[in-house]
Amino acid sequence: MTRPNMSFSLFRLICRNNLKNWEFGKEDPQNFYSERVTIAQRQDTSENENCEANTTQPNTDSSGCFGINGLGKTLFFPLVILLSSLQYGFADNSNTTFIDNCCLKITKPEIREGNGELVECYPDYELPLGNGTLMNWGMNISFSPKYVFVPKTKVGICNIVKWAASDEQDLKIRVSGYRHTWNPVYPDNGQVLISLLGLTYLMTDDSSSTVHDHTGAGKELKEIKYVPGCTEPNKIYCKVAGAVTNDELRAFCLNNQDPIHNSYWTIPLNVILVENTLSGTISSICHGAGHSNKTLSDLVEEIEFVNAKGELQVVNKAAQPELMRAAAGSFGLLGVITSITLKLDKMGYALTDPQFVDLSKAIPPPIGTRLDQLPEKLQKDLCIFSQKALDFIILQNSEKFFDRCKDYYAEWFWFILSKNCWINTWNKDDPENDNKNRCEWIYGGEAIYSSLLAWLQNGMSSFVELFDKENFKMPPPPFQEKFVRTSSDIITGLLSTHPRTLPLPEALHFQRGIRHIHVRDVEIEIPISLNQDGQPDWTICQKAWWDAIFVIYRHLEETGTLPVNLTLEMRIMGGSDITMAAQQGNPCTCSIEVLSTMVVPHDEWKALVEQIIGRWITYKDAQDKPLAIRTHWAKEWHGLQFNGIDANDFVRNTYQEAIPKFKHQLAGIAAAGGYTLDDMRKRFSNSLWDDIFFHIRTGSSD
Ligand SMILES: Cc1cc2nc3c(=O)[nH]c(=O)nc-3n(C[C@H](O)[C@H](O)[C@H](O)COP(=O)(O)OP(=O)(O)OC[C@H]3O[C@@H](n4cnc5c(N)ncnc54)[C@H](O)[C@@H]3O)c2cc1C
Repeated sequence: MTRPNMSFSLFRLICRNNLKNWEFGKEDPQNFYSERVTIAQRQDTSENENCEANTTQPNTDSSGCFGINGLGKTLFFPLVILLSSLQYGFADNSNTTFIDNCCLKITKPEIREGNGELVECYPDYELPLGNGTLMNWGMNISFSPKYVFVPKTKVGICNIVKWAASDEQDLKIRVSGYRHTWNPVYPDNGQVLISLLGLTYLMTDDSSSTVHDHTGAGKELKEIKYVPGCTEPNKIYCKVAGAVTNDELRAFCLNNQDPIHNSYWTIPLNVILVENTLSGTISSICHGAGHSNKTLSDLVEEIEFVNAKGELQVVNKAAQPELMRAAAGSFGLLGVITSITLKLDKMGYALTDPQFVDLSKAIPPPIGTRLDQLPEKLQKDLCIFSQKALDFIILQNSEKFFDRCKDYYAEWFWFILSKNCWINTWNKDDPENDNKNRCEWIYGGEAIYSSLLAWLQNGMSSFVELFDKENFKMPPPPFQEKFVRTSSDIITGLLSTHPRTLPLPEALHFQRGIRHIHVRDVEIEIPISLNQDGQPDWTICQKAWWDAIFVIYRHLEETGTLPVNLTLEMRIMGGSDITMAAQQGNPCTCSIEVLSTMVVPHDEWKALVEQIIGRWITYKDAQDKPLAIRTHWAKEWHGLQFNGIDANDFVRNTYQEAIPKFKHQLAGIAAAGGYTLDDMRKRFSNSLWDDIFFHIRTGSSD
């Protein structure tokens, strides 16, 4: 592969991500076939195109950054160049592969939108990647649908489902947003994919912020509006259509008052990422942070979807509370979500004050930790050489940590081998200051500063992407340790450590651009039980945090390698009322992620992650009962081993009580719509969900 001209590519990447698709005109789906040609003509063209060899997607990527410390960090670019030249030293140019494309021609169905136009449809041979194979963002799952549809209207979606349900077709449908899920939730090969976002978003990771709608989604599927009906004080209902992204909701909340109260509103919690659909995050039961915050799915008041009969159906929380527990976290099984009504809070202002604190003090090891439990390298890094010193640190800092656990938002990052931990916990300012805070945010230039920062973060992440993701390899020991230490130093050097008062949506999405840094990611939800005083027992968080650190250091001492090379991230959050939520039944939850860049070979990452998880899943409560430790549905779990147990079996086991309830609730939804649970499964499931929920093994998910 030829390496692109560096300066041109930098300019292009930054423009691409920050000037909202400068190449969009070229990539717009409509431009792939700007004139409607006949099926025969298209087949001929495609056949010729597909006979050519095409490069596959690379399976490696670059390291990452998580934030910038104001505008003065001009050292970033030279440092990345330095780091990257270190990486070039270990480049491997051998893994560019070529595949031949053999395609079976199929007839393109003529399905109509609400306005009579044809629904945008791409049979496999027309997908611009050539061989009809698509990948998720995490690049660990590939899938080859027979057709991809990009409908723009609800009528279009209804017509697709009716067509797929016909005896002649009998095809299964799965919907995708940004494909940010690391498990095989996508269609089985030869089935149907519906993307409510345009084809650009399905084919590439090029697309960034989406406030000015470049997603190619239909207008009807992009609407956001406040709706009446909420009687709770200081809350409002907000209806977001099926293709709405986090970035759009963020911008809507910052800029639109509701017509009745003339107030601004905010989602109380969210994932950090802005580039995902609310339909996707809610279907996967995603979450943010804060002991009083449940999951995004817990905020859902109403869901409208196209059901297995190809008809619009609604589940409403007030009218059908039990059914909503399944509908608001149903992994795409329900049908195609066309809108979700969320309960929002009055806009609040976050007093953010991110800080670096010594690793041993930020989350101190649990009381009773012996010095000899700390691997030697760790003792050296922490400068702790006696039991007395260790005990003193634990005694001095445990209460401080417990206090932070009670903050409105609570999150800790440890960049691997760094001596510090980046703490991002904050509370909301007094509502009395809301007007003042908004004025300061707007007129004090904070709004502009925030946008600029987001723009820069996006650009920098893109810049990191430049460094030839397909050619990186982790350097061998002993350079590997040095490489990771240097990377972590660079990243931590860029993280913000100054206090700012921000509108809640800005504080929740404090880091932009992370989408451009592909990662491997597993996340485990550990229940936080109540102690004898009825208070959350935060000590389990200390235990889980340090068990992971011990495993990583021990592995380094034994092998000289660091298959987990990016970060550990811990968030405190609440429980959930959603039937299939990993947090369901927990008073509070300790949510820990283990992240690596893509330069780490998948198998090596998996092996070390399995060791860490292997420790976590043995935890028990005060009554010696195993804790209900579960995986995040959207992060990678499929294909992992859980102390020798296959992932699907482990997952099924950890939800043995929830699964029958979930199916019963789904059956209730089906009955309300005049069809059966089996109709739902046949239309909207795939091999993974067939196996997990219905004990049907069709093979391709395993
Ligand atoms: C960089 C990164 C950061 C992340 N951070 C967080 C985090 O902070 N917290 C957290 O909890 N998660 C996080 N995630 C996970 C992420 O939020 C989920 O993967 C989420 O589902 C992504 O939304 P999406 O638009 O990509 O959906 P997809 O991954 O495309 O789809 C997810 C699921 O939703 C279904 N679906 C999507 N749209 C519809 C629809 N219209 N109708 C019916 N079903 C539909 C799909 O079938 C699939 O089962 C992160 C992921 C990444 C890549």
